[in-house]
Amino acid sequence: MITLKNVSKFYYKKGVIASGFSRVNLEFNIGEFVAITGESGSGKSTLLNVISGLDSYEEGEMYINGEETSHYTEQDFENYRRTYIGNIFQSFNLINSYTVYQNIELILLLNGEKKKDIKEKVIELIKKVDLYKFRNTKVSKLSGGQKQRVAIARALAKDTPIIIADEPTGNLDTKSSESVIKLLSQIAEEKLVIIVTHNYEQVEKYVTRKITMHDGKILEDKKIKETETKPVKIHEKFKNITTGNKIRLGVRNTFNIIPKFLLVLCVYLFITVAILSEYASFQKEETLSKEAGINYIFSNMSTNRIIIKKQDGSSYQEEEFSKIQNIENVDYIVKNDCLLDMELGLTNDMDYMYATVSEKPVTEVDLGRLPESDYEIVMEGSKDDYYIGDRAEDILNKEFRIEDYNTEETKEEYKLKVVGVKYVEEENMYRTNKMHVQEKVLNDLKRNVNQKYSTTKTMFMNKNYENKIVPNDNVPVGKVYVPEEFEEINQNCIGKNLEISVENIYYKDTLNVSIDKIYKKTTIEKMLGIKDFEKNNGTIFINTTDYNNLFNKNTYQASVFAKDSRDVEEICKNLQEMGMQTLAIKDTLVQDGTLQVLRIFKTAVTVVLVITLFFISYFVIKIILKSRNVYFSTIRMIGASKGVSTDLLIIELLTVSNIAYFSFIGLILLVKNNIIASKFLNNLITYLELKDFAILYLVIITMSILISKKFAKSIFKKSAMKAFREEV
Ligand code: ADP
Ligand code: MG
Repeated sequence: MITLKNVSKFYYKKGVIASGFSRVNLEFNIGEFVAITGESGSGKSTLLNVISGLDSYEEGEMYINGEETSHYTEQDFENYRRTYIGNIFQSFNLINSYTVYQNIELILLLNGEKKKDIKEKVIELIKKVDLYKFRNTKVSKLSGGQKQRVAIARALAKDTPIIIADEPTGNLDTKSSESVIKLLSQIAEEKLVIIVTHNYEQVEKYVTRKITMHDGKILEDKKIKETETKPVKIHEKFKNITTGNKIRLGVRNTFNIIPKFLLVLCVYLFITVAILSEYASFQKEETLSKEAGINYIFSNMSTNRIIIKKQDGSSYQEEEFSKIQNIENVDYIVKNDCLLDMELGLTNDMDYMYATVSEKPVTEVDLGRLPESDYEIVMEGSKDDYYIGDRAEDILNKEFRIEDYNTEETKEEYKLKVVGVKYVEEENMYRTNKMHVQEKVLNDLKRNVNQKYSTTKTMFMNKNYENKIVPNDNVPVGKVYVPEEFEEINQNCIGKNLEISVENIYYKDTLNVSIDKIYKKTTIEKMLGIKDFEKNNGTIFINTTDYNNLFNKNTYQASVFAKDSRDVEEICKNLQEMGMQTLAIKDTLVQDGTLQVLRIFKTAVTVVLVITLFFISYFVIKIILKSRNVYFSTIRMIGASKGVSTDLLIIELLTVSNIAYFSFIGLILLVKNNIIASKFLNNLITYLELKDFAILYLVIITMSILISKKFAKSIFKKSAMKAFREEV
């Protein structure tokens, strides 16, 4: 069934041609048990390898069942080996980390058999080579003779018509050799068995034919026994390994060499943690630097702040505020937010400092105490601030005037006493200090802001005037006290109507009052309780209730503060759904040039670092995989294609990478649920989004697939025999 006609095999080594064997003419048939002998280097192994399809030949023609093979491709030879050849090697070529059972099972699984169908067959083969007791023992623990019997069982499992054994007893003692040879002779009744041996006496009793080689030539070809030529029985076409078995083998390979598994796991854990932490620290810097911007419109530049206005322009009702307060992650609401952006100058004879009003209730102070009376305040700001930091003791318990601001009665200037100081960590150097004031002062300030931001006009006798309007409780409701100039305009102005109109970006309002009295330098104190005539002359005094009706209106614009600046987007979305216009301060901050350049630089560094990490891990895993060369060239020799080998490797690496990835995710979940505490991991969680974890997963998966493909490619670049020779 196999015929060689003038076949020669040459080796090319460093430009020199060496002959493996030359001009060999042989014919082999089923039922023969052939022994090839000859001194070392005479070409016996080379001949077997050519017959096995493990090596190519250069001259002549080899026929398989009458078919020429000189045009065969690598793939054709792989198919030929699968269908016809069972190899037994001097060095056994078993998977040492597999058990006896698994080694024999492997070849059947690779040839597409179902796991449950082959159990009986495998056990039967194990019994045949007398290793039943050792079926679950790892091959590495067996003696040489036992190993060779496993190899024979494996060669038989595929049920090929030809068994080829290169010095199968070369590593065995006499007793083991005897049993191996006996086993092979039994097999030869049904098949063609060709063995190479140094020790012809050992096989003499069993063989049917003896071929002696010398210097690459056939010296002698002698029939020992008559044989009956039997027909060639070829197994039905071999199938490919099933997906289920691929996964099973891949997972088995993952765990069966524990040190290798741990090593690869460590690399994957390293890359998972390294990439994530590098990315998280980048995100952290990003977040912080985004908050370090400035804008020139709003004084309160808290990145947690969202300014809101109703889309229809109407004012807010209390229940709307309570709805907003109920939105997730809303910290507090400042109802009149114009105040937030007004920087007030606080001054006394010694010092001058700026502050904006904070409506957030203050509950603790770092220096001094909490306010107890209406005009006491707490200053809040950074320790780096000159007044609050270095001179805190100097400003504590001192009174400050609010510049340009008088009490409602305008009798004297508004004075506030600093009783406490509170420190906050400020990342943003542009932010101003804040002052916490009591309800009473807050209302005064609010009204004052409204007035400042409004245009107030007075109309008398169809002419407009721009006199200042000031509240005074001596004036009855619906009346006004006016200066003398009104009398000059109209001799009988008393009882006449005066229209006061207020207009600002939110609302317009008018109030009609009648002139009740005219004050003069001599009567002002008696009439209104005001001493300083010069300063107040020209002012129109109205009742406080009327004044409040004009200026202490409902809120049209408010500010919502998020608990954390990262919640701002989500809160904005909710507010917009409630029919509001939103402006997040976070989005209004602009950065200066240096910060921008720094950010670009940091991004570049992060990208380079992540890519470097990727490649370091890639190469480390490749090096670890080199130890798997024997495994892959072995399974290739027993019938695994390149595709199957690649898939097995992909499954193996995916299993490890998933274990690494998900144990890390598990750890993160534990930290998130406060079961274990880790500042490092907490930082990771804070600055990473689900998206980032997904991207990392993709990176790891991609890496595993890339490595597997490259590795399989490098193994399959060489011929099966060459790949194997280099490893063993
Ligand atoms: P045997 O198995 O009879 O001891 P081989 O078949 O291994 O002999 O070798 C036959 C000849 O081919 C020897 O001269 C040997 O040096 C040469 N040879 C074998 N394998 C190679 C190889 N891979 N590269 C170059 N020469 C080789
Ligand atoms: Mg040899």
